[in-house]
Amino acid sequence: HLADEWRVSRNTVVHAYADLEAEGLIFSRVGSGRYVQPLPPPSALPPLDWKDRLSGGANLCAPSLMTELHALVGTRSALNFAFGEGGPHTRLKAEFAKGIDPLHILETSEADYLFPVQGHLELRGWIAEWMGCEQVTSPAQVMITSGSQEALQMTTAILANPGDSIAVEMPTYFGALHLFQSLGLHLIPIPMDGEGMRVDVLEGILSRSRPRFIYTVPTFHNPTGTTLSEARRRQLLALSEKHGIPIVEDDAYRHLHFDQEPPPPLKALDRQGNVIYINTFSKVLFPGLRLGWVTANRPFMERLTRSKELSISTNTFVQHALWSYLQKGAFPAHLEEARRRYQRQAAVMDKHLSALVAKGVSYAKPSGGFYDWVSLPEQVSPKELLQEAIRQNVVFATGDLFLPRETEQPYIRLCYSYETEAGIEKGMRILASLL
Ligand code: PMP
Repeated sequence: HLADEWRVSRNTVVHAYADLEAEGLIFSRVGSGRYVQPLPPPSALPPLDWKDRLSGGANLCAPSLMTELHALVGTRSALNFAFGEGGPHTRLKAEFAKGIDPLHILETSEADYLFPVQGHLELRGWIAEWMGCEQVTSPAQVMITSGSQEALQMTTAILANPGDSIAVEMPTYFGALHLFQSLGLHLIPIPMDGEGMRVDVLEGILSRSRPRFIYTVPTFHNPTGTTLSEARRRQLLALSEKHGIPIVEDDAYRHLHFDQEPPPPLKALDRQGNVIYINTFSKVLFPGLRLGWVTANRPFMERLTRSKELSISTNTFVQHALWSYLQKGAFPAHLEEARRRYQRQAAVMDKHLSALVAKGVSYAKPSGGFYDWVSLPEQVSPKELLQEAIRQNVVFATGDLFLPRETEQPYIRLCYSYETEAGIEKGMRILASLL
């Protein structure tokens, strides 16, 4: 138990039962109680050797620290600075539920089972309009995917073969990193500074090699929080045009700015159709929706459609639900409310971090998104700090998760989107005392 005293609280017992049930060791019968799961009868034959049966790609999927941390948040209600999502206290899910009529959706979605593979037509039209750029005017340029992660997965598989190289900001979003590594891609790291990707370094690299594509999170980057300046956006596009290399723009945090709007998406500056633009409803609504989208020009969209056909379509019920919710018209106000909330939460985090600067901590104040990328004093090991923090019921991500090699980096990523202001106060006091 993680409390200071050795008192066994009722919660501890409840969590222990939940853990045992999650592992399939016990089961419950309504109105009767909990029972130990009987063991299956022993088999005369040896168990299947799964390791031997797995594909090369499956063997390349390393277990992630994030899965372990998720379990701590789920079963022990640890204070969560680890995950980039809105917390349970946000009203968004309730507002979303109020805006939809499940029975009506079921009737219509059943009738509409075979949407076009690209997804719900009006929803795609709404997205094209919301993007507000002259490069994207028609639903034909938009495909709805099962979260932006699926979009990234399909896009990567279409553009690169195992063993190929791609250019990637370092550090980068760990979900992309795992995906690229599982596909056996060679990553060419592009360093970053306060203005985002070092496009000058990329320029040097492109004079010597030709990656299959360039992956970037240009706005409120995960994990560093930085935003690529407009000048660099133009330089990046010029390089893509000069060398004929596609850009995969992952813009998950664009709409979560605090004050000033960020520079336009690369897609909005894209004259030649080189940019494949990916975004998601996970951050502006909630990740359980599993709805994201891709915007691309026709040749790529045609190829993507063939890929998407392999999984038939994105959940049509949920697409209808989102469309119904959007039609009620409350989304802009909800989004504005979410921005203000994240801004307040970021300010609380900032207050605590700025007090730690004198102790050798450094960070750059974000102007949107979910993250503070924090550099620790030399003598502090992020992994040890995490172990200590877990004992005190606080979780965060260590910096090595966002880099391809297992070398320890002096960084941690603190996410302020999940906890309330009070939760951030409490968690940061614990981290500060540990530091
Ligand atoms: N891209 C980035 C940069 C992200 O941070 C995330 C979520 N952490 C995703 C993609 C995946 O989002 P989704 O839930 O839409 O799959």
